[in-house]
Amino acid sequence: MRAIFLGPPGAGKGTQAQRISEAYQLMHISTGDLLRGTIKDNSELGRKARVYMERGELVPDELVTALVRERLRAARRHRGFILDGYPRNQAQALALDEILAEEEIPLDLVVHFETPVEVVRDRLMGRRVCSSCGTNFHLKALPPSPNGRCSRCGGELMIRPDDQDQTVEQRIRVYEDFARPLVKFYRKKDLLHKVSGAQTAGDQYAELKRLFERKAK
Ligand SMILES: [Zn+2]
Repeated sequence: MRAIFLGPPGAGKGTQAQRISEAYQLMHISTGDLLRGTIKDNSELGRKARVYMERGELVPDELVTALVRERLRAARRHRGFILDGYPRNQAQALALDEILAEEEIPLDLVVHFETPVEVVRDRLMGRRVCSSCGTNFHLKALPPSPNGRCSRCGGELMIRPDDQDQTVEQRIRVYEDFARPLVKFYRKKDLLHKVSGAQTAGDQYAELKRLFERKAK
């Protein structure tokens, strides 16, 4: 199965991409993880990418596409893949079409996590991460210790730089501008399936499993 998960930040697509790729032994290609990985490596690519990410802006297409191309080549040896966070705009979608044609690995489906803006805002604003062990929390959905510290190691919690109020608003706007043409693009190709991003993670997972079972036949 070769799929794209499309949706705003906070829609749950990353979590679902991880669970579904484990369930079906697919390669989970997350551009967020790829970029964070290159930043940790402190490679030239990583240093360039970091500047954009901290401002809440999108990393330039060529940079991201280079990373994705590399991963997709490796994905040929797998049963398939889920692309999470890519493509983000039409230029990337066209670049992806080219890569997939070159590698002869056509897409099976595109899942659109349709999510109201208020839900996205609520989820992103509540996210906290432990500054010592890196565990993720959410003030409502996955609360930390009552004393406001990490329930695993007691470490101090912080807001990720890209979850700051202003950055969140910027990310929502950037997403909306680019998402609409993409949804249209894949609807025309008859690949698009909608899943509600507002429902719980459990319900999303159940719906996705039904979809994947149906598609696998
Ligand atoms: Zn901790």
